[in-house]
Amino acid sequence: MAMQAVWWCVPTATLTSNARHQMNSCSASSQSSLFKNVLSGWRKSGRSSSSLGNFASAGRVAEIRVALQTGDRAAPSSSGSQQAFGAAVAPSKGSENVDAAGGKFLLGKSEEELVDLAVSLGEQKYRGRQIHQLLYKTRASSIDDFHHLPKVFKEALVSEGWQVGRSPTHHVARSADGTIKVLLRLPDNLLVETVGIPVQDKAGAITRLTACVSSQVGCALRCAFCATGKGGFSRNLKPHEIVEQVLAVEDLFKHRVSNVVFMGMGEPMMNLTNVLAAHRSLNKDILIGQRMMTISTVGVPNTLAKLATHKLQSTLAISLHAPNQELRSQIVPSAKGYPLEALLSDCRKYFLETGRRVSFEYTLLDGVNDKPEHAEELANLLNHWKLGRHVNVIPYNPIADSEFRRPKKAAVMAFVEALGTRKVTASIRQTRGLDANAACGQLRNDFQKIPIPVAA
Ligand code: SF4
Repeated sequence: MAMQAVWWCVPTATLTSNARHQMNSCSASSQSSLFKNVLSGWRKSGRSSSSLGNFASAGRVAEIRVALQTGDRAAPSSSGSQQAFGAAVAPSKGSENVDAAGGKFLLGKSEEELVDLAVSLGEQKYRGRQIHQLLYKTRASSIDDFHHLPKVFKEALVSEGWQVGRSPTHHVARSADGTIKVLLRLPDNLLVETVGIPVQDKAGAITRLTACVSSQVGCALRCAFCATGKGGFSRNLKPHEIVEQVLAVEDLFKHRVSNVVFMGMGEPMMNLTNVLAAHRSLNKDILIGQRMMTISTVGVPNTLAKLATHKLQSTLAISLHAPNQELRSQIVPSAKGYPLEALLSDCRKYFLETGRRVSFEYTLLDGVNDKPEHAEELANLLNHWKLGRHVNVIPYNPIADSEFRRPKKAAVMAFVEALGTRKVTASIRQTRGLDANAACGQLRNDFQKIPIPVAA
């Protein structure tokens, strides 16, 4: 899911883990006039959720038109959701740290793997352990920086095609609240967006630093409010391309990252193999606790059970955005291929399998899903499934030209109160970094206009 990861919790005033799905508002420049007209008509009709009935189908048509204009082969067709999900459940091509050009990357590899690599090149095992130290403690960014290694070994690594796997910074955007967004330029010239979100004490010292990382370049799921989805999909990120985002945040803040949220560009469950590899490295190599990490998803069939088998101690965050299947399918088109009942059943199984709570996120869109009756329906749903009973409520953060609007504060409070009457607690998250292109994918879109290159 795409992100925007940057919220704090009201009233607790602590930065809760995530946020991405929400801030991703549409880049209206990519919407067709048909899409706008349909949405406008729906609003004039009184903006009830039921009146959104024709919105999804028209929106689908609009998506197809945009896809035709942009040549984005990842765009949905008449069975777009199934196509996208098909890509998710199919074997992930190239889960190793090897790119299409044959480049091989050391970052993301375990100590054991690096020892094996050293031995395969005729070196002793301790040379592999040295590389591990150089990558994750010294933070060497190139093999030239491997000063402790013999020249002949470094030459052997280079001649075998090995690189560290750090990408140059393309752009940095700083917010007055301390949030920093960074664009990294990958070897194939695609840009990937990462956010660093600090929490500081009264003296200004950082007490927590959260990295909101992307898992894909773009996203194929195209949630209605999401800038990342509107920007098109290019490819999955390799494990090292996820890990390096955390290191980039540490470099910018000159501070250790304490928390990681997979809430940046892309849907982590569509790139699960590489996300799990990156999660392993962040935990075992960079030493970020599993409980300090959150994986967020809108839900992809057949992936939660697979994730549960890994028994991670990280939080699973589900972006619901609606209390029923009909409305959810309109906001999250890919949900048409994953009924809400099936998703919550899988969440329940995940909880029973791992013992880890599942958190829920709900982006409030003015006049779409923000009525007290929506809150009551949502509370009844979560109570029925005995799933946590806590919701992170995210007032939508509109961007320029967005067709969606932020709900009024009174509507937000009424929504939270309606949840509370049914014993579902809620945190209201506010976006941080508003002056740094806060919506997920927005900064990338500013610098890399669609169509972005699509992998063959
Ligand atoms: S389009 Fe993709 S990145 Fe955006 S909110 Fe949906 S799943 Fe997340």
